[in-house]
Amino acid sequence: MARYIEDSCRVCRREGEKLFLKGSRCYTDKCAITRRAYAPGQHGQKRKKQSEYGMQLREKQKAKAFYGVLESQFRKYFEEASRRKGVTGTNLLQILESRLDNVVYRLGLATSRGQARQLVRHGHFTVNGHKVDIPSYLTKVGDEIKVKEASENSEIFKQIIEANENGRPVPAWLEADLGNKSGKVVAVPTREEIDLPVQEQLIVELYSK
Ligand code: SF4
Repeated sequence: MARYIEDSCRVCRREGEKLFLKGSRCYTDKCAITRRAYAPGQHGQKRKKQSEYGMQLREKQKAKAFYGVLESQFRKYFEEASRRKGVTGTNLLQILESRLDNVVYRLGLATSRGQARQLVRHGHFTVNGHKVDIPSYLTKVGDEIKVKEASENSEIFKQIIEANENGRPVPAWLEADLGNKSGKVVAVPTREEIDLPVQEQLIVELYSK
Protein backbone atom coordinates (compact mmCIF):
# COMPACT_ATOMS: atom_id res chain seq x y z
CA MET A 1 0.00 0.00 0.00
CA ALA A 2 1.33 3.43 -0.93
CA ARG A 3 2.27 5.68 1.97
CA TYR A 4 4.45 8.58 2.99
CA ILE A 5 8.08 7.49 3.27
CA GLU A 6 9.81 10.84 3.77
CA ASP A 7 11.22 11.43 7.26
CA SER A 8 8.40 12.95 9.32
CA CYS A 9 10.54 15.66 10.92
CA ARG A 10 11.74 16.87 7.50
CA VAL A 11 8.09 17.28 6.49
CA CYS A 12 7.40 19.43 9.60
CA ARG A 13 10.51 21.50 9.03
CA ARG A 14 9.63 22.15 5.40
CA GLU A 15 6.11 23.24 6.37
CA GLY A 16 7.47 25.29 9.26
CA GLU A 17 4.90 23.79 11.66
CA LYS A 18 4.74 21.04 14.23
CA LEU A 19 2.51 18.47 12.55
CA PHE A 20 2.82 15.89 15.35
CA LEU A 21 3.76 12.99 13.09
CA LYS A 22 6.00 11.09 15.49
CA GLY A 23 3.99 10.46 18.62
CA SER A 24 5.37 11.25 22.06
CA ARG A 25 8.68 12.63 20.69
CA CYS A 26 6.71 15.57 19.26
CA TYR A 27 5.90 16.74 22.79
CA THR A 28 9.52 16.77 23.97
CA ASP A 29 12.42 19.13 23.33
CA LYS A 30 13.81 16.49 20.96
CA CYS A 31 11.31 17.78 18.38
CA ALA A 32 13.24 18.87 15.30
CA ILE A 33 11.13 22.02 14.91
CA THR A 34 12.16 23.09 18.42
CA ARG A 35 15.82 22.51 17.63
CA ARG A 36 16.02 23.59 13.99
CA ALA A 37 13.08 25.75 13.04
CA TYR A 38 14.01 26.17 9.39
CA ALA A 39 13.48 24.15 6.23
CA PRO A 40 15.80 21.17 5.59
CA GLY A 41 18.50 21.25 2.93
CA GLN A 42 21.31 23.55 1.88
CA HIS A 43 19.05 26.56 1.27
CA GLY A 44 16.68 25.89 4.16
CA GLN A 45 17.66 28.99 6.12
CA LYS A 46 17.11 31.41 3.24
CA ARG A 47 13.89 33.44 3.35
CA LYS A 48 11.79 32.84 0.27
CA LYS A 49 8.91 34.93 -1.00
CA GLN A 50 6.09 32.62 -1.92
CA SER A 51 3.75 33.05 -4.87
CA GLU A 52 -0.01 32.69 -4.38
CA TYR A 53 0.17 29.25 -5.98
CA GLY A 54 3.10 28.33 -3.73
CA MET A 55 1.11 29.22 -0.61
CA GLN A 56 -1.92 27.25 -1.79
CA LEU A 57 0.26 24.25 -2.58
CA ARG A 58 2.00 24.37 0.81
CA GLU A 59 -1.34 24.43 2.66
CA LYS A 60 -2.49 21.38 0.73
CA GLN A 61 0.78 19.51 1.35
CA LYS A 62 0.57 20.35 5.04
CA ALA A 63 -2.96 18.95 5.34
CA LYS A 64 -2.00 15.80 3.42
CA ALA A 65 1.00 15.19 5.66
CA PHE A 66 -0.99 15.91 8.84
CA TYR A 67 -3.51 13.18 8.03
CA GLY A 68 -1.09 10.94 6.09
CA VAL A 69 -3.24 11.01 2.96
CA LEU A 70 -1.93 10.69 -0.60
CA GLU A 71 -2.91 12.99 -3.49
CA SER A 72 -5.53 10.80 -5.19
CA GLN A 73 -7.39 10.14 -1.94
CA PHE A 74 -7.12 13.79 -0.92
CA ARG A 75 -8.65 14.90 -4.20
CA LYS A 76 -11.53 12.45 -3.73
CA TYR A 77 -12.18 13.94 -0.30
CA PHE A 78 -12.20 17.40 -1.86
CA GLU A 79 -14.74 16.30 -4.49
CA GLU A 80 -16.93 14.80 -1.77
CA ALA A 81 -16.58 18.00 0.29
CA SER A 82 -17.69 20.09 -2.72
CA ARG A 83 -20.80 17.95 -3.15
CA ARG A 84 -21.86 18.39 0.48
CA LYS A 85 -23.89 21.36 1.71
CA GLY A 86 -22.01 24.05 3.61
CA VAL A 87 -18.50 25.44 3.41
CA THR A 88 -16.28 23.22 1.24
CA GLY A 89 -13.11 23.82 3.28
CA THR A 90 -14.82 22.92 6.56
CA ASN A 91 -16.47 19.89 4.93
CA LEU A 92 -13.04 18.73 3.75
CA LEU A 93 -11.58 18.92 7.25
CA GLN A 94 -14.61 17.18 8.73
CA ILE A 95 -14.19 14.30 6.28
CA LEU A 96 -10.48 14.01 7.11
CA GLU A 97 -11.24 14.08 10.85
CA SER A 98 -13.78 11.29 10.50
CA ARG A 99 -11.20 8.81 9.16
CA LEU A 100 -10.92 5.87 11.51
CA ASP A 101 -7.13 6.25 11.95
CA ASN A 102 -7.61 9.89 12.98
CA VAL A 103 -10.44 9.02 15.40
CA VAL A 104 -8.30 6.28 17.01
CA TYR A 105 -5.47 8.81 17.44
CA ARG A 106 -7.77 11.55 18.76
CA LEU A 107 -9.26 9.11 21.30
CA GLY A 108 -5.76 8.44 22.68
CA LEU A 109 -5.70 4.82 21.47
CA ALA A 110 -2.52 5.48 19.44
CA THR A 111 0.38 7.87 19.94
CA SER A 112 0.39 9.15 16.34
CA ARG A 113 -1.80 8.91 13.26
CA GLY A 114 0.88 6.73 11.68
CA GLN A 115 0.69 4.26 14.53
CA ALA A 116 -3.12 4.41 14.46
CA ARG A 117 -3.04 3.53 10.77
CA GLN A 118 -0.85 0.53 11.41
CA LEU A 119 -2.94 -0.72 14.35
CA VAL A 120 -6.16 -0.40 12.36
CA ARG A 121 -4.59 -2.21 9.40
CA HIS A 122 -3.52 -5.03 11.70
CA GLY A 123 -7.14 -5.54 12.71
CA HIS A 124 -7.00 -4.38 16.34
CA PHE A 125 -10.21 -2.31 16.21
CA THR A 126 -13.93 -2.80 15.90
CA VAL A 127 -16.56 -0.24 14.89
CA ASN A 128 -19.99 -0.98 16.35
CA GLY A 129 -18.80 -4.50 17.18
CA HIS A 130 -17.48 -5.35 13.71
CA LYS A 131 -13.80 -5.60 12.85
CA VAL A 132 -12.69 -2.76 10.57
CA ASP A 133 -9.13 -2.83 9.21
CA ILE A 134 -9.39 0.08 6.78
CA PRO A 135 -7.69 3.26 8.12
CA SER A 136 -9.64 5.46 5.67
CA TYR A 137 -13.01 4.12 6.89
CA LEU A 138 -15.18 7.19 7.52
CA THR A 139 -16.84 7.10 10.92
CA LYS A 140 -20.12 8.84 11.65
CA VAL A 141 -21.94 10.22 14.66
CA GLY A 142 -22.98 7.36 16.96
CA ASP A 143 -20.18 4.99 15.94
CA GLU A 144 -18.46 3.13 18.78
CA ILE A 145 -14.78 2.38 18.30
CA LYS A 146 -13.15 -0.24 20.47
CA VAL A 147 -9.93 -2.24 20.70
CA LYS A 148 -10.99 -5.80 19.87
CA GLU A 149 -11.23 -8.17 22.82
CA ALA A 150 -8.25 -10.31 21.83
CA SER A 151 -5.97 -7.24 21.71
CA GLU A 152 -7.18 -5.49 24.88
CA ASN A 153 -4.46 -6.86 27.15
CA SER A 154 -1.64 -6.64 24.65
CA GLU A 155 1.55 -4.81 25.65
CA ILE A 156 1.21 -2.23 22.89
CA PHE A 157 -2.09 -0.85 24.23
CA LYS A 158 -0.75 -0.80 27.80
CA GLN A 159 2.16 1.31 26.55
CA ILE A 160 -0.09 3.61 24.53
CA ILE A 161 -2.45 4.26 27.45
CA GLU A 162 0.52 4.85 29.78
CA ALA A 163 2.17 7.23 27.29
CA ASN A 164 -1.07 9.15 26.97
CA GLU A 165 -1.79 9.57 30.68
CA ASN A 166 -2.16 13.31 31.33
CA GLY A 167 -1.52 13.69 27.62
CA ARG A 168 -3.51 15.02 24.71
CA PRO A 169 -7.03 16.17 25.52
CA VAL A 170 -9.83 14.36 23.70
CA PRO A 171 -11.85 16.79 21.54
CA ALA A 172 -15.46 17.48 22.55
CA TRP A 173 -16.88 15.72 19.49
CA LEU A 174 -15.52 12.40 20.80
CA GLU A 175 -16.13 10.54 24.03
CA ALA A 176 -13.25 8.39 25.26
CA ASP A 177 -13.38 5.53 27.73
CA LEU A 178 -9.72 4.59 27.95
CA GLY A 179 -10.40 2.12 30.80
CA ASN A 180 -12.38 0.10 28.27
CA LYS A 181 -10.07 1.07 25.41
CA SER A 182 -13.02 2.45 23.53
CA GLY A 183 -14.70 5.65 22.46
CA LYS A 184 -17.64 7.11 20.59
CA VAL A 185 -18.21 9.76 17.94
CA VAL A 186 -20.80 12.07 19.53
CA ALA A 187 -20.85 14.97 17.06
CA VAL A 188 -19.41 16.32 13.84
CA PRO A 189 -16.42 18.54 14.74
CA THR A 190 -16.76 22.27 14.22
CA ARG A 191 -13.87 24.12 12.51
CA GLU A 192 -12.85 25.54 15.90
CA GLU A 193 -12.50 22.01 17.28
CA ILE A 194 -10.07 20.97 14.53
CA ASP A 195 -6.50 21.94 15.45
CA LEU A 196 -5.08 21.63 11.93
CA PRO A 197 -2.83 24.66 11.31
CA VAL A 198 -3.91 25.30 7.70
CA GLN A 199 -5.91 27.87 5.83
CA GLU A 200 -8.26 25.44 4.10
CA GLN A 201 -9.66 28.20 1.88
CA LEU A 202 -6.31 28.20 0.05
CA ILE A 203 -6.71 24.47 -0.67
CA VAL A 204 -10.20 25.12 -2.05
CA GLU A 205 -8.79 27.88 -4.27
CA LEU A 206 -6.04 25.58 -5.52
CA TYR A 207 -8.43 22.82 -6.55
CA SER A 208 -10.93 25.27 -8.00
CA LYS A 209 -8.53 26.60 -10.66
FE1 SF4 B 1 7.23 17.15 13.65
FE2 SF4 B 1 7.06 15.53 15.72
FE3 SF4 B 1 9.32 15.63 14.29
FE4 SF4 B 1 8.60 17.65 15.91
S1 SF4 B 1 9.16 15.56 16.51
S2 SF4 B 1 9.37 17.84 13.82
S3 SF4 B 1 6.35 17.67 15.62
S4 SF4 B 1 7.32 14.92 13.58
